[in-house]
Amino acid sequence: MFKSVARQTARQLGSRGSAAPVTRRYVHTPVAFDWKDPLGASNLFTEEELAISETAESYCQERMLPRVLDAYRNEDYDRKILEEMGELGLLGATIEGYGCAGVSSVASGLITRAVERVDSGYRSGMSVQSSLIMGGIDEFGSQEQKDKFLPQLAKGKMLGCFGLTEPNHGSDPGSMETVAKPHPTKKGYFSLSGAKTWITNSPISDVMLVWAKLQETGKIRGFLVERSECPPGTLETPALKHKNGLRASLTGMIQLDECPVPEANMFPEIEGLRGPFSCLNGARYGIAWGTMGALEDCIARTRQYALERKQFKNNPIAKYQLVQKKLADATTDAAFGILAAVQVGRLKDEGKAAPEMISMIKRQNCDRALVNARILQEVFGGNAVSDEYHIGRHVANLFVTQTYEGQSDIHALILGRAITGLQAFC
Ligand SMILES: Cc1cc2nc3c(=O)[nH]c(=O)nc-3n(C[C@H](O)[C@H](O)[C@H](O)COP(=O)(O)OP(=O)(O)OC[C@H]3O[C@@H](n4cnc5c(N)ncnc54)[C@H](O)[C@@H]3O)c2cc1C
Repeated sequence: MFKSVARQTARQLGSRGSAAPVTRRYVHTPVAFDWKDPLGASNLFTEEELAISETAESYCQERMLPRVLDAYRNEDYDRKILEEMGELGLLGATIEGYGCAGVSSVASGLITRAVERVDSGYRSGMSVQSSLIMGGIDEFGSQEQKDKFLPQLAKGKMLGCFGLTEPNHGSDPGSMETVAKPHPTKKGYFSLSGAKTWITNSPISDVMLVWAKLQETGKIRGFLVERSECPPGTLETPALKHKNGLRASLTGMIQLDECPVPEANMFPEIEGLRGPFSCLNGARYGIAWGTMGALEDCIARTRQYALERKQFKNNPIAKYQLVQKKLADATTDAAFGILAAVQVGRLKDEGKAAPEMISMIKRQNCDRALVNARILQEVFGGNAVSDEYHIGRHVANLFVTQTYEGQSDIHALILGRAITGLQAFC
């Protein structure tokens, strides 16, 4: 459905679409303030982008939202969700060909915003599939790898994950210990050994993009490990249970013990951290949009609650200044965050986005979403503790978004390095 809308509007607007011509207002008619879109960001979207956003929002509110409480309570991720998203053309949406929609970065941001409005865990599952594995294969894979994996991943029939973090190396992946060496008995194969941890989707992944150091050169390379091809005992992907955030997504380890991987499954050229960091850039851009969706949901729920809840002389608590300030702060941060994400998205499509811009919006939007969600939670009083009010779930999730794909302070160091020319990591 989504692909046909996208194609139709793409025909009208050109494949990437273009912003509607600006008409100058000479007559000053009063403009009503819209608390859901305070700075009028929707004026910056093309018709195609608006249609995609509408499709994604309807799917998420109608099909995902009813499942989220049970998923969160039971730490149970329904893999059918990725298949449903695949049917709508929501996976790997910026990729051209291979059954992907080939839409703008802003359109893909609107999709992540819609998904995270429901839950950051659902958005994480989608981001890993779309940006980390599909994006990686599209950018660095051989033609054979693209032909083999991308169409199935786009449909959500095959699930993927991205293994960079290790038990002893998170913020500093350059020190990773996972190693690839020529297989002692199988010609044309590498043997991979090592452990990755906190890997979204690993327990249910069919293909894993594992970053490992090639023993011969000491350089980091990307390997596509196919679960069905791994002999027993060479690959384990245990789930990490009892999380107190992101419970609607599955997280696990990847344990490799002399696992044979064909040479044809190594990314042909990319070496060093540029490979994983480039994939992470795409995902971090999505997180900047997604966290704004989560914050917008917190704002809408808090506003509704504050209008209905009455205290002192039967006044709705929304009437009190302290409550209004909380809503004003959060709404301002959400509006600024969306505009920044639109700007970086447009520059990204023009090839003008520096990675530090993505660090800036990932950090800022995650931080502001987390801080505001925690403050808005106060408006619910004791009811904030009940998961049926959803705000506590967003708060717990937003801690994770601020931590993964570069913890907030690490992005500050990336920006500090770019500002001063001096690196403060070690
Ligand atoms: C639910 C979940 C899902 C995840 N999914 C994935 C996934 O799919 N794939 C994947 O590869 N990883 C994934 N991660 C891992 C995530 O990216 C890491 O947790 C993150 O990079 C931080 O690494 P760490 O946990 O080892 O923390 P550490 O690196 O140990 O950092 C701990 C703290 O120390 C600070 N710190 C570290 N170094 C410095 C320094 N030089 N200066 C100042 N402060 C510093 C950090 O900012 C942080 O606050 C996931 C994590 C979670 C929780």
